[in-house]
Amino acid sequence: MQTRFDALIIGAGPAGSSAAILLATAGWSVALIEKQAFPRRKVCGECVAASNLPLLDALGIGSEVADKAGPELKRVALMHGTQSVWADLPAAADARHAWGRAIGRETLDTLLLSRACAAGVTILQPWAVQKLSGVGRSHHCTVRETASGQLKLLQAPVAILAHGSWEHLPDERAAQRLARGSSDLLAFKANFSGAKLAAGLLPVLAFDGGYGGMVLADGDLVTLACCIRADRLEALRRAAPVRAAGDVVEDMLKRQCRGVDEALSGALRCGNWLASGPLRPGVRLRDDEAVFRIGNAAGEAHPIIGEGISMALQSAWLLCAQLEAARPRHGADTRGNWQREARQRYTTEWRRHFVPRLRVAAGLAHLAIRPAGAMALMATLKRFPTLLTRGALWSGKVNGIGDGSPVGIGLQRWPQATAIQALHRHLPGELP
Ligand SMILES: Cc1cc2nc3c(=O)[nH]c(=O)nc-3n(C[C@H](O)[C@H](O)[C@H](O)COP(=O)(O)OP(=O)(O)OC[C@H]3O[C@@H](n4cnc5c(N)ncnc54)[C@H](O)[C@@H]3O)c2cc1C
Repeated sequence: MQTRFDALIIGAGPAGSSAAILLATAGWSVALIEKQAFPRRKVCGECVAASNLPLLDALGIGSEVADKAGPELKRVALMHGTQSVWADLPAAADARHAWGRAIGRETLDTLLLSRACAAGVTILQPWAVQKLSGVGRSHHCTVRETASGQLKLLQAPVAILAHGSWEHLPDERAAQRLARGSSDLLAFKANFSGAKLAAGLLPVLAFDGGYGGMVLADGDLVTLACCIRADRLEALRRAAPVRAAGDVVEDMLKRQCRGVDEALSGALRCGNWLASGPLRPGVRLRDDEAVFRIGNAAGEAHPIIGEGISMALQSAWLLCAQLEAARPRHGADTRGNWQREARQRYTTEWRRHFVPRLRVAAGLAHLAIRPAGAMALMATLKRFPTLLTRGALWSGKVNGIGDGSPVGIGLQRWPQATAIQALHRHLPGELP
């Protein structure tokens, strides 16, 4: 088996697989390492914002997503206690992709990974990264096959971390264990058939100690996902010691949110509740690292705005644009200068596109989690429901990196198969 590559990518979520497709399409040799077997369910609200649909087209899976995903999402609601307020979601300018959709992660992630395979990416799955170290200009990565325990050493000048934020690489685990606290957010998700949720409606839920969302996704299944503070979950579990954590969360959501109770009355849960966390929203990009980070591994917004898949796809796109643009100009560079240049430009672009979303998400989460904040939010939105529409705009639902705006990178002009080759002509600094 080949062990030397142009790039190693760790994690085949939306970030890792899309970066693999982009680099492989541009002629790079790429190894993509994923520790779980696919298809796999994953804790996620599963809404894909309209701003990503052109990206999915360019990645080669747009038509499959369009065929499989749930109905177009045209309305948003906030539900708190017995109250609800509704507003229109903003439409994206591209009429073919005006509205977001919801699609199960077992479907979306598998489509992306299959596309990466078709693009010539070497896929190691299920293999887990055990150790990653920089030696000279090269990254050495020890990977372990889950079934056999077999170890391999892979090498590449570029290493991209796309392993998300809820599982940690072996080197990071000790620090994460120490840092746990009662305000940590734990995340849950389940799917239901026969739920009564209006097609095209995206309700955001606010409850004491957490927030969540519901949506009709592919296969007529409703996805219900939420985040809850660890101390609040512990109190709920103390009150119902024989119930599993997911059941306790479901009971609480039905009690605290009339909209959830109504939607789930007569519905059947399909599969178990999934749990993950703790979530640590914030920026993880660092200037002093030799590796590149994309998706949640680079930074995470509170999922209240449902923009994590967007940030995963879009950050992969931004990074690959910078890598591909920097590499040819320093073809003979053995000192890694081209990587430094790519990192600098990528970090600047990442902050420009995503830090505002992180801020909007943090502000909304802060309000939604606290009963007084949620009540104030509800009272304000009842008077000015179009603020919900504005909130969706501010959180990036329609203006991604490829919307043709002056800060975009001109995605709509890219022929699908040569997307990356065209990138260097559309670098942000060179746009009109
Ligand atoms: C409750 C909740 C609701 C959400 N709702 C939405 C929503 O509606 N819309 C939205 O856009 N976003 C939503 N998100 C956010 C979204 O799920 C994440 O932001 C997104 O999954 C990040 O993608 P990623 O590719 O960066 O990482 P991930 O999807 O986490 O993928 C990382 C991959 O890396 C693999 N991996 C990890 N460690 C290793 C290792 N050592 N070796 C090999 N592989 C490894 C994992 O198995 C995994 O497959 C939600 C999140 C939560 C918690």
